[in-house]
Amino acid sequence: MPPSCRRASAVAFVLSLLPATGVIAALILGRPGMAAVIFGTTFTVIGIGAVVPRCRWFGPHVSRLPEGVRGVCLTIDDGPDPRTTPALLDILDAHQAKALFFLIGGKSLSHPELVREIERRGHAVGNHSQTHPAARFWSLRPWQLWREVAGCQESLRSILGGAPLWFRPPVGHHNFFLTPVLRALGLTMMIWNCRGFDGVSSDTRRILEVIGRGLAPGAIVLLHDATPVSAEVLRGTLELIRCQGLAVEPPPAPELKEA
Ligand SMILES: [Zn+2]
Repeated sequence: MPPSCRRASAVAFVLSLLPATGVIAALILGRPGMAAVIFGTTFTVIGIGAVVPRCRWFGPHVSRLPEGVRGVCLTIDDGPDPRTTPALLDILDAHQAKALFFLIGGKSLSHPELVREIERRGHAVGNHSQTHPAARFWSLRPWQLWREVAGCQESLRSILGGAPLWFRPPVGHHNFFLTPVLRALGLTMMIWNCRGFDGVSSDTRRILEVIGRGLAPGAIVLLHDATPVSAEVLRGTLELIRCQGLAVEPPPAPELKEA
């Protein structure tokens, strides 16, 4: 971890201890009501700030394309996977559409040929952490976070020769310590504003119904690789995009921040 990131992370870590210190101090002073208020406020801030994907309390991110863009951006998380990624690439080729694949570092090292193929077909690659710790990403300490994000950068760099510029956190969770880590690695966080919950459901009809309602000019669409319905959902989404008179935009440049 570079020194500037280490300093910023240390400050954030000390700040993160303040609520617990406040609760203990209030209890020692015999003020259980105050302790309860501090605890409740902290719990609420962490709950909303970490778990709500489009919340910006813990740092900036992009969740839609800039004003004036008529098309939509397709993002595909959780690959690569030899069972599904090749089919997704063929479907995208058939529709002449480009996507941004948020890849998991560990899976990429297991299937480097798929990572190279994604890039060869003209798609962009983003960082989706090294091990995808979905349930505990929000609670990782700075040094654990560094291992996840920098580890994925290094994995993808070793395969492609260059490192990604976009980062997407597992399940869209935020982390209080994330901003200095992303800054040190030159990464910008991208969330989404259109999804059909295809990572947790296999009901293609319902998934596409929800995606269809969220499609609009400037939308960033979240889809998932490595599910039993990945290909069907991608095909259906591309059809919905066509039916709504929208186009698939190439993945945006990271300098288009904070949209
Ligand atoms: Zn994911």
